[in-house]
Amino acid sequence: MPLYRDEAVVLRTVKLGEADRIVTLLTRDHGKVRAVAKGVRRTKSRFGGRLEPFMRSDLLIATGRSLDVVSQAASVGSYAGPIGADYDAFAAANVIAETADRVVAAEKEPAGRQYRLLVGALAALARHAHPSEAIALSYVMRALAMAGWSPRLDSCVVCGRGMAREGDLWLSMEAGGLMCASDHTPNSRRVSRAVVDRVSALLRGDWSAVDAGGGDAAIVADAARVVEEWSAYYLERPIRSLRWVDS
Ligand SMILES: [Zn+2]
Repeated sequence: MPLYRDEAVVLRTVKLGEADRIVTLLTRDHGKVRAVAKGVRRTKSRFGGRLEPFMRSDLLIATGRSLDVVSQAASVGSYAGPIGADYDAFAAANVIAETADRVVAAEKEPAGRQYRLLVGALAALARHAHPSEAIALSYVMRALAMAGWSPRLDSCVVCGRGMAREGDLWLSMEAGGLMCASDHTPNSRRVSRAVVDRVSALLRGDWSAVDAGGGDAAIVADAARVVEEWSAYYLERPIRSLRWVDS
């Protein structure tokens, strides 16, 4: 079987037979890959813990007829340790991995920018650079934007006029962004300017603005709901692991 070498992050794993697993990987150069890891569930597996979720490893993979097979794995970044030791970081990593799996739908189509975004988010979680929930929500908005689903937050999607700094605004998932008071449709939802500003900061990865706005629980919670609704609409069903955000 022909071999290829690539760097990858493990997005999820499912059991296969007695001792094996199928691992879903986002790779740097080959996009999303599903591969069999033989014997990985044995205590003395040669892979050690290197094929667990959120691990970043350098892999040697054999091309198979249906599924590829992982032949060797060497650890690159040990994000999994610090992430697994912290409940919020672990929950956020689940959101990030599930989102990456859904946003990169096709297998074996290069997705280098998505890979770099994923690695950056997991590294930020592992070093607790910002609150875990904000890292996850920012990742979701940026991964969706990279896939072509970026909300228009500076002007009305109907009339194109810039949005007022004061007063309530409306956001339409279907129409892809903000609507002004005269154009808003019945299925748009009301949002405050502060919530729009927070969603915009998450989308831009503007961490000084995100961290500065972290103190207002109502704004933080409503911005999280906007991210949840936006992702559910464009991914066509909710991100299951995002539910923790509401609790
Ligand atoms: Zn308008």
